[in-house]
This record gives sequence, structure tokens and C-alpha cells, in this order.
Amino acid sequence: MADARRYLRQLQELGETDLVLEPPAPAETKPADAPPRRAEPAGKPASATKPAEAKPGAATADAAPAPASRWGGPPMYGPGIVVQAPPSRDDLFAADPIARLDSLEAIAQVVGACTKCQLGHSRLNAVPGEGHPRAHLACVGEAPGATEDETGRPFVGRAGKLLDEILKSIALAREDVFICNVLKCRPPENRTPEPLEVAACSPYLHRQLELIRPKVILALGRPAATTLLGTNASLGELRGRIHRYRGIPLVVTYHPAALLRNPHWKGATWDDVRIARRLLDDEGA
Ligand code: SF4
Ligand code: URA
Repeated sequence: MADARRYLRQLQELGETDLVLEPPAPAETKPADAPPRRAEPAGKPASATKPAEAKPGAATADAAPAPASRWGGPPMYGPGIVVQAPPSRDDLFAADPIARLDSLEAIAQVVGACTKCQLGHSRLNAVPGEGHPRAHLACVGEAPGATEDETGRPFVGRAGKLLDEILKSIALAREDVFICNVLKCRPPENRTPEPLEVAACSPYLHRQLELIRPKVILALGRPAATTLLGTNASLGELRGRIHRYRGIPLVVTYHPAALLRNPHWKGATWDDVRIARRLLDDEGA
């Protein structure tokens, strides 16, 4: 009952422009290098989940029969497209220098000086991406917009504020996740990325994901989904499935900028992000 009420309230709130979502469980303060917070079911005392060693926030599934998810939402999505990791790149002659960059900082530095495509000449600032270097959730958008181009930071304009609220609705803060885009430089007039630009820039994204090794990827909009999944399918065809990108579950949802134009898609988006949240919690798939 309480879950249903919360569902309705959050749906309603997601339909508003100024969103103040109440996370389903109290947010805890945590040190900067601590794992992404994991909310406990409301009313249930926080169980002693042991802190993860190698990866932050690893969920511990302790109860035998899986209870209905406290997140509610649709039944777990079925499987979708499977993208294998490329063969090992230890062969010196096949080495792509980007695939050899060994930290997110190194990638950001190379991106900052990149002119592999025409956008390198028109940008104000490159926007490599930011967030927790061991994030369990990676959010991938399309390309920087005007505010991002001015600041060098991803998703800080209106769409970014909405992304913050969407994350909050599944008890995640911006600092818990990694946020980046397919393109690291702004296309003029925010036009859709061109295939040559995506081809030039996507190695940075693949390497970022390889270094972060997130537990779940959230593809925001069609360019992110098609780039990561190597398909030309429509967003409608790609939503509602758990794809696998190099072994990592990947959920496709609407881009927050599209939600600003079409607020009636927010319910579907909330379904998608709750599926992502349940995957983070090791429920299903
Ligand atoms: Fe380089 Fe990507 Fe910027 Fe093009 S969009 S210049 S490939 S960083
Ligand atoms: N839209 C995107 O796809 N990315 C951003 O960083 C901002 C808006």
C-alpha cells in the first residue's frame, strides 16, 4: 500500500518541472571514497550489509526466496542485444592508443586536446564526463549542450537537473554514478551527432566504461543506446530489455531533454530506472 502510494506520488512528481523527489529511504552521509549509497527498505532497520572490498556498494542478497521488489515497477525486463567485449588488445600492432589510456584522468586529458573530428575546433570546452571512478551505475547521454560546453561538465543544464532528480528517485546522488556522453564536444546548435563524429569519439567512451566497470549502464536516448549496442534500432525497440554490453546489463531509457519536451514519457522512464536500480541491487538478470 505504502509502496503504491509512493509510486503514484513519485509519478506525479516526475510530471512536474520542478522536481523534489523524496528518495524511498533516508540518504546517509558517506565519505568521498565510500560506495554509492544503498537505501534500505523503509520501515526495515538497516541490515548489516558488509562493505564491499573491490567494488563499492555491492549488494548482498541474503534472503532465499526473492521478495517482491520494494521499488515496484514492471516485471523484470527480458534479455536483449548482447555485445561481446573485443578480443584482448595485447597485440602491439593492433593497439589503439585510446584503449591503452590507463585512467579516467588520462582520458580526460587526451579528450581536452582532441581534434579527431571537426567538433574539436568549435567547442569551448571538451566534456569528458565525471563521477565516481568505481561507480556501479554509468549514465551515458548524447553530447554536451551549451551549458556543458561552457562549463566542461556533463549534464549541468536543464536536462542535467532532471537527470539529478531521476537519480534521486532511485536513491542515487550524482556523485555516486559516472555521467558522460557519446560525444565529448558540443555539436553546433545541438544537432544530432554525425556517424563520423561518433566513430571518432566512441573509443573514449568504451575505454571509460572498461576502466569503471560499472555494474549497470543506463543509456539515455537513442544515440547512446545505438552506439553502445552497435545497432540502428529505434528507441522503442531498444527500451524494455536488459541488453548486455561486454557483460554489463544495459538499460535504455528516454533522454532527459526528450522528457522536458514530452513529460508524459516520465512514467516509462521511471519504470526503466527502477529496473536499473533493481539490477544494481542484484534483483533479477
Ligand atoms: Fe575528439 Fe570526440 Fe571532441 Fe571529436 S567530439 S574532437 S573525437 S573529443
Ligand atoms: N544532453 C546530453 O546528452 N548530455 C549532456 O551532457 C547534456 C545534455
